[in-house]
Amino acid sequence: KQKQTQKEKVSDTQCPFCSVQCRMQLVEQTSVTRKTYRTVGLDNPTSKGRLCIKGLHAHQHAFHKDRLTQPLMKRNGEFVPVSWDKALSYIAEQIQRIQKEDGKNAMSVYGSASITNEEAYLMGKFARVGLETKYIDYNGRLCMSAAASAGALTFGMDRGLTNKLDEISYSECIILAGTNIAECQPTIMPYFEQAKENGAFIIAIDPRETATTKVADLHLKLKPGTDAALANGILKIIVDENLTDQVFIQKRANGFEEVREHLAGLSLSEIEEKTGVALKDIRRAAISFGKKATGMILTARGVEQQTDGSIAVRNFLNILIATGKIGKPGSGYGAITGQSNGQGAREHGQKTDQLPGYRSIENEEHRAHVAKVWGVEPDRLPRKGVSAFEMIQKMDQGEIKGLFLLCSNPIVSNPNARFVKKALSKLKFLVAVDLFVSETAKLADVILPTTSYLEDEGTMTNLEGRVTLREASKSALGEARHDWQIICDVANALGKEQYFSYSCAEDIFNELRQASKGGTADYYGITYERLRGKEGILWPCPTLDHPGTGRLFEQSFAHPDGRAEMTVVPNEPAIQKEKPCDEYPLYLTTGRVMAHYLTGVQTRKSSSLSARHFESFMEIHPETAKNLGISDQTLVQITSRRGSIIVRSRWSTQIRTDTVFVPFHWDESQNVNRLVEDKLDPTCRMPGFKVSAVQVEALDNV
Ligand code: SF4
Repeated sequence: KQKQTQKEKVSDTQCPFCSVQCRMQLVEQTSVTRKTYRTVGLDNPTSKGRLCIKGLHAHQHAFHKDRLTQPLMKRNGEFVPVSWDKALSYIAEQIQRIQKEDGKNAMSVYGSASITNEEAYLMGKFARVGLETKYIDYNGRLCMSAAASAGALTFGMDRGLTNKLDEISYSECIILAGTNIAECQPTIMPYFEQAKENGAFIIAIDPRETATTKVADLHLKLKPGTDAALANGILKIIVDENLTDQVFIQKRANGFEEVREHLAGLSLSEIEEKTGVALKDIRRAAISFGKKATGMILTARGVEQQTDGSIAVRNFLNILIATGKIGKPGSGYGAITGQSNGQGAREHGQKTDQLPGYRSIENEEHRAHVAKVWGVEPDRLPRKGVSAFEMIQKMDQGEIKGLFLLCSNPIVSNPNARFVKKALSKLKFLVAVDLFVSETAKLADVILPTTSYLEDEGTMTNLEGRVTLREASKSALGEARHDWQIICDVANALGKEQYFSYSCAEDIFNELRQASKGGTADYYGITYERLRGKEGILWPCPTLDHPGTGRLFEQSFAHPDGRAEMTVVPNEPAIQKEKPCDEYPLYLTTGRVMAHYLTGVQTRKSSSLSARHFESFMEIHPETAKNLGISDQTLVQITSRRGSIIVRSRWSTQIRTDTVFVPFHWDESQNVNRLVEDKLDPTCRMPGFKVSAVQVEALDNV
């Protein structure tokens, strides 16, 4: 009977909530009385049909009643719906006014790593050709810039994983440094479980015990901020015990002698004291990794979001090179990216120093290639601007007056978030493109409604470098438009039709292919036709008959001499991190929980995900809590040099006694980024999110 009264429509899509990009199906069920939706996993080479809780409920926010369906303009402090024509002509007028009064660079562009490759590419072109400003950067700067910079400097190029995910299963030793895969990318955990079944030794490095460290054979529970020193300890023991691969080093690497000399001058007992990790455990990690024939190192934000994140990752890459564990089956590196298109969105020109295909904006040949594809003179392309947080500093200083913000929530995601709100409040003009009225969008003069992942068509690149095509499952909600259409609409309102006339996402992709051709991230050989209904192609893919590249660096690295560059890494960072003191006696570190994505703008709208984690919390060791008079599950005030927040305490013996942990998915008074340090890594300009000093008080005592 049910079959007679219900209709089912099934469409293929992929999850928008992390870089695994699990394939899934949206099932729409229509009965006489109502329509319901559910999501089910779809077999594919990466997640193999698995979904985590975020994926299972990913559709909920897309159907939420708070979705924006019309452009909104602020009048007397209130948002009122307006037509697209009115919104676009107002935006053009304001941008032209600002650029006439204060110059082209008075406008800025802030992008996202959750958008498609086509949209990321178009954002770069929009800034340089549409607005002619040098000020563009994106939220990926806060996410994977340290790993990207380390890969580029050590290997000559950066791709999330140097090997396909399934190689993890037969690697003999795996170091998981600052990554909580079991909570953040749960569907790839079976690769590690399979590796264990095959006899692999797994080492986890994290100040907290997590669902991931529980899978490990050895957990190095280091003091926050000491990852670079810990890697020095591991590397020194590998060198001292003659566990290096001298044939590989001679043939394929530069800089080993300098590193060896530097390590000779380091004291292991000092490293033990600095990191808080027992020397016997550092030794066990080093010997285990050094002795195995194959090994992989995977890093994530725990190592990377620090003022020495870039060089700390390079030290883990030093370990791989010194032991010859790269460029062969079961051996390699991976940066486990968090954002859904963390890989693709960093390849096509949203970064201030990059043009599509990972080309450099300061390289004359690279500029000429891209300028030709775009149909402009190379010397008309702006030069390099500054990183995301530095753009915000320029807003505060009054140098940047306007912002085009796409699918990002910088007030919640940046460090020292109260300063960020103050800086953005000084803008003369802010346009926000979003699904919902985020905390940042509330400050906007105009909000433009965009389409959700279910309504978009475009390519995405997962953490392996696998490019896939995500086709639309449904039509746009209300008057919402695709990000790429919005970018073109604004550019065209500014009189740039000749550069921004596309009829569909595929048109943009075909231009991207030309722009990336011959670059490091070469997409030229990938077409929609090759992707449609298939399992994706791993870049580089330089020709139409190229199968894609599963494993990188088998014969040579991407530097001009084909060799990897090892580098000396000091135990102490050049930019000092905060340390606990009398006034702020505890380390604060931050991270994710399984049910939420980034600043929670989408996942907090999902009833199922919100029910799982409806508020923030502070994890604290019971011993520390008792000393401070803090009971379990009571409200506490956490204060740093930059502000205070109020969250609920959660006792846990899984955290160090000198550290508290707070997740970063909530806004306003629960936003932990209000507390976080805003010093930047000197190489990649990543803020030092993971290490701040705080004091904690029971709210009754405040
Ligand atoms: Fe897969 Fe990540 Fe989505 Fe979970 S959040 S279903 S692991 S893509």
